[in-house]
Amino acid sequence: MYELNDKIKNLEPYEPISGTYQIRLDANECPVNLPDEVRREFAARLQEIAFNRYPDPMAGRLVDSFAEYYNIKPTLVTAGNGSDELIFLVESAFMQKGDKMLVVSPDFSMYNFYSSICEVQSASFLKGDSLEIDVDALIRTINRDKIDLVIFSNPCNPTGKGITRAEAEKLVSSVEALVILDEAYMDFWTESLLDKIEDYSNLIIFRTASKLVGAAALRLGFAVANPAISKAIKAVKSPYNVNSVSQAFGEVIYRQKETLKNRQKMIVNNKEMLYNGLVELCGARNDCTVYSSVANFVFMKTGCSREIWEYLKRQSIVVRLMGEYLRITAGTAEEVNAVLRALGAFFER
Ligand code: PMP
Repeated sequence: MYELNDKIKNLEPYEPISGTYQIRLDANECPVNLPDEVRREFAARLQEIAFNRYPDPMAGRLVDSFAEYYNIKPTLVTAGNGSDELIFLVESAFMQKGDKMLVVSPDFSMYNFYSSICEVQSASFLKGDSLEIDVDALIRTINRDKIDLVIFSNPCNPTGKGITRAEAEKLVSSVEALVILDEAYMDFWTESLLDKIEDYSNLIIFRTASKLVGAAALRLGFAVANPAISKAIKAVKSPYNVNSVSQAFGEVIYRQKETLKNRQKMIVNNKEMLYNGLVELCGARNDCTVYSSVANFVFMKTGCSREIWEYLKRQSIVVRLMGEYLRITAGTAEEVNAVLRALGAFFER
């Protein structure tokens, strides 16, 4: 009788929230679909695809389009099947038996999940009540504990806080560890280190098309690193990791500079509206803290998170419940107004 090993025998498959809701503010997605003209261009590109052939292993045209959008060299970019694939790949390939990895906490839960599958030792650096990262203390911990790899999201999911470019540079230049900056939400802020990537021998930056770009359905993620690290990532990835449809559509999307710029403005505005509305609703309550955010969502702590979450669900609005915290994605203006109205009604009861 075959027995599953200890590390996997109690795992459950990932299940996003089930059911149909009118307003989805739980996954930090872009609230609007791609414009009609872009989807019409997809139809034309579909006709060109040789479905009987394997995709381009290096996703050359997609990578060129991504690199042009961010004004970086295409040779420094590796495309992945979502950044989720790249997180798993980098953690498993760049860590060896006995190496130590550090995550900051709270942060994106998949970093630790993948390290447990890779049987890598992982430690947590705790953020204080402010949820900000104390960069000097993080540097001391990495050097004192001889950490081999540190990974965190900047801006952070779920807190919405970020470290500045100067702080990120100080960190990368003060440690020998490999630093992985997951910039999944950096399209909503200004502190990216993408343009500095070649200055460092120990830096990998992840980006994704699932947030601002609004293409979560295509599963497109990118790792950006210096030539030596990029070559290693390309060498360890599975050969045909990004399918031809996602490559072709992704190439089209990253050429929509005007659409992406307008969308960025809209989402950042709506995030500010959400934050201000939450502060107004919660400001006078001593059981509630709303955290300012540089991402496309707002994080809050309340004494009644589960009750709020259940109440919103009954109004067909779904947000993310995380223990005593709630994380609410900035949707369209109508969606933000709807969630604020529903929360107001909850607090009035
Ligand atoms: N990193 C962070 C910080 C995220 O929040 C997410 C998605 N929730 C991902 C990576 C995964 O992105 P992708 O859709 O590209 O796999």
